[in-house]
Parts: sequence; C-alpha cells; structure tokens
Amino acid sequence: MRNQLATQTLNELSKPGRRATRLPQCDVPTRPVSALLPEAALADRPPALPELAEPEVIRHFVNLSTLNMSVDTHMYPLGSCTMKHNPKRNERMAGLPGIVDLHPLQDESTLQGMLQLLFELQGMLAEISGLPCCSLQPAAGAHGELAALMVAARHFQELGQRRPVVLTPDSAHGTNPASAAMAGFDTKTIRSREGGGVDMDDLRAKLDEQTAVFMITNPNTLGMFDSQVKEIADLVHSQGGLIYLDGANMNAILGVARPGDFGADMMHFNPHKTFSGPHGGGGPGAGPICVTETLGPYLPVPRVAQQDEQFVLEWGDARTIGRVRSFFGNVGVLVRAYCYIRTHGPDGLRRVSENAVLNANYLLSKIRHFLPVPQGDRCMHEFVASAESLKARGIKHPAMDLAKRLLDYGVHAPTVYFPLTVKEAMMVEPTESESKETLDHFAQVLFRVTEESPELLHDAPHSTYISRPDEVQAARKPMVRWESA
Ligand SMILES: *Cc1c(COP(=O)(O)O)cnc(C)c1O
Repeated sequence: MRNQLATQTLNELSKPGRRATRLPQCDVPTRPVSALLPEAALADRPPALPELAEPEVIRHFVNLSTLNMSVDTHMYPLGSCTMKHNPKRNERMAGLPGIVDLHPLQDESTLQGMLQLLFELQGMLAEISGLPCCSLQPAAGAHGELAALMVAARHFQELGQRRPVVLTPDSAHGTNPASAAMAGFDTKTIRSREGGGVDMDDLRAKLDEQTAVFMITNPNTLGMFDSQVKEIADLVHSQGGLIYLDGANMNAILGVARPGDFGADMMHFNPHKTFSGPHGGGGPGAGPICVTETLGPYLPVPRVAQQDEQFVLEWGDARTIGRVRSFFGNVGVLVRAYCYIRTHGPDGLRRVSENAVLNANYLLSKIRHFLPVPQGDRCMHEFVASAESLKARGIKHPAMDLAKRLLDYGVHAPTVYFPLTVKEAMMVEPTESESKETLDHFAQVLFRVTEESPELLHDAPHSTYISRPDEVQAARKPMVRWESA
C-alpha cells in the first residue's frame, strides 16, 4: 500500500508540464531551539536520568514482564472476559508496514486497502449479528453500549416519543446501567427468576410506553441461554421499545444463533474477547455496534461504503449521532478481528463456539462435585460456581481466598463476586483454546485449594511479588515512578 502511494506520487510529479504537488510550507528555524524559548522555561542543568547500560534495561523489563500473568503464560479462565488465545499471526498482520505506516489523515484514495478491510469487517459483523448496519467507531464494549443507547435516544427523538427509561436485568454487567445513565436514561432493574432467566412477571410489571430499551445479555452472565428471548423481544416491541443485546458472550453462539434473528435491534461486539484481540492491561479494545435498517441512519460516522470501484468514508446526514471517537475507530484491534474471522471462516467460527461450550461443560461436570453450581447441570461457554459452602469451614471470603490461592499454583483466578445474583460467585470460562490436559489440571488445582486450611488461604498468594494490593487504590492512584517521591 505504501509502495503504491509512493509510485502514485512519483507519477504525479513526473507528469510533463505539471507543477509539483504543493507540500505544506514549514519554516526551518535558523537559530538553536533554546534561543526560541523564554529564559524562564530553560533548565540550568541536564535532568537526573538513570544511567544504565542496555543489558540492565533489557533485564529490568524482561523481568518485569514475567511478574504478570497473561494468556501467553498461564491458563486464564476469567468468566465473561473470554481470555482466549491471541494468535501470533494476527499480531504479525496488524504490524505490517502497509498497516502501521498509514496515517488517518491521508487522502482516501491512498487508503483503499484499509478501507476495504474495514468495509468487509462491517459486512462480516453484520452477517454474524443478523443486524445489517454496522459502525466500527466505539472504542470498547461499554463505549458501544453508550453509542447504541445514544442511537436509540435519537430514534425516539425523531419519532417525537418521550421514553426516559432503560431496563436491565439484575444479572447485567455493571456497564449496562452505567451506559444507560450516561446516555441520559433512568434505569430500572428486572429480577431474574429461579434458574437465572429474566422474570417475565417483573418485566411485564415494569415495561410500559416510558421504556426506551431493554438491555439483555444472552447467553447471560450465568452462562445460560435465556430461551425466552424471542418472547421478551416481542413483548418489548409490542410496547414500542427496543432490544439491546450485550454481545460480550458471543463466543458461545458464533455461527449458531444470530441476535438479529432472536429479536435484537442493536448490539455490540467485544473484538478483544470474541475475536481474540489481546486485552492488554485494560485496553486498547473496540466495541463495534450493529443495528437494524431502521436505526442505521443514526449510527456514529464515518462508516465505510463502496461507491463504484472505490471505498469511501460516508458521513451520513443530520440524523447521525456524529462521531464518538477520533478517525475510524481502534483500527489495530479491528485488523486483528478481521484476521481472526477470515482465518476461521463461517464453519470455523461455529466450531469455536461449539468447542467453547464443550470445554465449559466438561469443566462444569468436574467441578460441581466440590463447588456447587446453583444454576444448572449444563451451561453455555461459562458457568458460575458458588464457594458459599466453604464459609462453614471458617473461611470468611471463600471466593476471594480461592482466587488468590490459585495464583500460587500458576492458574489465573476466575471472575469472582460477579454476577451479584450468586453468593461467593466464581465465574469460570475456559474458552475453546485450552486442551483437556489444561482443563483437568485446573479442576485438580481448584479441588486442592478448596481442601486447604483457612490460614493458608487467607494469606495467599504466597509466591507472587506482591500479595494482596489494594485493588481500588492500585487502579486509581497507580505508582508509576521509577523512584518514589
Ligand atoms: C466485558 C463486558 C462488557 C464491557 O466490555 P468492555 O469492552 O470491557 O468495555 C459488557 N458486558 C459484559 C457482559 C461484559 O462481559
């Protein structure tokens, strides 16, 4: 792509009788930079930088990198987060010079390869979701939720309807009600019934013409497919409301069921979960959204369209909610998603989900003998065990203690204390990329730690560099200095 650009420019320049393309003017300073700055801004001595040789720097960072757990070093059964294998091939593709050397401000005619990739990705996500209109702009799942709820708000504004309420189930991810509040809606919680699905009576009681959107995660955060979903969608639609599908659990149903077919009007994908993007310490991610034909005009812009032989950015009309992110979205993550989808193909994606579900059920069948799984004998791609019964052995916070102790055995913890509807919840998602040997090892280690003494568990982990940091402070006030103040 870069070569093509270079050749084009050269051809332009060498056309006979044609003036060279005008380049932006830029003054080259004739004086040293220090002479251009005000006196007060100049330092009087060089900064005290650490003086280190290259081997010392390399050892420092290589050693630091081994203190962390990642899918490349350990099994990582973090429920709801889909910590699957990050294929190295995707990294190589995303790092190709034709991709990393592009600049988003280049002329569209010189970005044709990238625009084609994004255009095709929009089409693939539309096909997988069963929802025809796609925007790749949002930068994370939660950002996709917010953008889609803004689309919904715009839609109702256009219809002249006042609908101030968004409904979310009590098992929903915290981002659902948070996104609804950010988009300006009031939220109401719908109870789950015994067994984990949406309580239809509670939904009927709270649903009315004030309802803009019902947000549902299906399969839900308990790892169950709510088979009432079509009925729920019909009910919400009968009151003029919309269905939002939180697509974080798409890993269970790729190529098997399409949200658009079971009644969703809008959804987001988490490419850093479902399509194998590395999660990378909280980012970067992406949160593409797909919506129905009716909602398409409100989507964020630009979207990529095809006109004749060219791929172009499309800016929509006055109905769009506008931009939600700079340029075209988090392109590096989207390239990895594209590679993952292309390398698997439709049948391969279906096998991904079938294996994810098989692995989770295999593990469930091994674990439920020593840690009860309140919601069922079967699951989709994940299940939620409860460590509540360990309290009888004098363990005050069993889910937390087991999670911490697993680290000593070289296994990352499952998600704990989510969903809130299960006591001492441990949400296990093995993904399709783990072998039977790894699953057996995990079940064995988990069994072993449930047998250990309360003291040993309470002080775990014993083998890590830091034992139990204050997680909130660590996130809010990270210490990133090489030398403390
Ligand atoms: C991960 C997740 C989200 C949020 O996605 P981010 O990409 O982390 O913003 C929303 N809902 C569910 C169920 C999730 O698991």
